[in-house]
Amino acid sequence: MNIHEYQAKALLKSYGLPVSDGRVVLKADEAKTAAGEIDGPLWVVKAQIHAGGRGKGHFKEPEAGEKGGVRLARSVAEADLFARQMLGRTLVTLQTGAAGKQVNRIYIEEGTDISRELYLALLIDRKSSRISIVCSTEGGMSIEDVAHDTPDKILTITVDPATGLQDFHGRRVAFALGLTGHQIKQCVQIVKNLYRLFVEKDADMIEINPMVVTKEGSLRLLDAKMGFDGNALFRHPDIVDLRDETEEDPKEHVASKFDLNYIALDGDIGCMVNGAGLAMATMDIIKLYGAAPANFLDVGGGATKEKVTEAFKIITSDPQVKGILVNIFGGIMRCDIIAEGVIAAVKEVGLKVPLVVRLEGTNVDLGKKIINDSGLNVIAADNLSDAAQKIVKAVKG
Ligand code: GDP
Ligand code: MG
Repeated sequence: MNIHEYQAKALLKSYGLPVSDGRVVLKADEAKTAAGEIDGPLWVVKAQIHAGGRGKGHFKEPEAGEKGGVRLARSVAEADLFARQMLGRTLVTLQTGAAGKQVNRIYIEEGTDISRELYLALLIDRKSSRISIVCSTEGGMSIEDVAHDTPDKILTITVDPATGLQDFHGRRVAFALGLTGHQIKQCVQIVKNLYRLFVEKDADMIEINPMVVTKEGSLRLLDAKMGFDGNALFRHPDIVDLRDETEEDPKEHVASKFDLNYIALDGDIGCMVNGAGLAMATMDIIKLYGAAPANFLDVGGGATKEKVTEAFKIITSDPQVKGILVNIFGGIMRCDIIAEGVIAAVKEVGLKVPLVVRLEGTNVDLGKKIINDSGLNVIAADNLSDAAQKIVKAVKG
């Protein structure tokens, strides 16, 4: 789960990290007051969306003189103007895709005089199953480009969980970033506090880009992207409160409500499968026969009829879906429950695309009988490749 920059900065502040003074603005009328509460002479007006690259982004149907989703203002009046211009507009950045994202919140911040822009991130390194600290002197710009063009300018340090974070980790970061004097001490403290936040809140990513050296010579965190482990959210109600549903795929949101493992993808074959491994295999085999899955969906081992119905509704609500493949191996999950769920869902939402069902395992005969007796236009399949070939053929002709 991701959160907005302004929410991330409030968290950073509560962990004693150096961020600028700022106010969030939800309505245009609030912008002037918010900017007035912040000291000048420089204000930064920042569009809040769950995507980076805002500074270099552009608005759809731009007006004259308009630039990106991060703008520097020289007066309260200018900050107010920029905030009003951005609110409600659609911002397109390298990370939003061509459709862009609507800006519903603005963050107005006290502007910083920047001397150098640096990169600092903490993330989970899945290879070593440890937390890694990534840093670079090339901050402010797209770190993906730096990694591609000049990988030697990125330092990665992995932290051993048995000893936890030590001061030397922070010092290595400081030296790699070319910091001097009291900045080194400050850097050690920043890395320490970021690590503590990361562990205590079950984050899976904290990216500070840029962390800057100010003209006065101290460090400040000017941008923050934070993500949290969805499986740990149950123990962080304070983080769950930060969720902005308008930033999430509505289908994924419904799925999380019904405890379904669902991820939307680009293809046109909707999949309903039980078990993550079988779901992966099903996606692979759809690809093998020349089509692409519209989603990953694991209904889980103990799915009820209601859960299956909801899962089916999520799939059919996706206009991209041109065919559906139900692939169930009934172990704990019984095939008759799946069959009843599918039929209940079809009766409720209708079936406008071809449906291939492959059932195997517990109560398979009963499941098949329920589907056959339903009078629904279902294509039965006997095994995984038969099922994949049948749905691809039904969709592609
Ligand atoms: P992003 O484009 O979504 O990554 O948004 P950032 O918050 O990183 O802002 C983009 C760029 O705007 C930064 O790399 C800085 O160059 C600039 N910027 C952001 N905040 C300030 C500020 O307080 N003062 C100045 N002078 N520039 C800023
Ligand atoms: Mg940034």
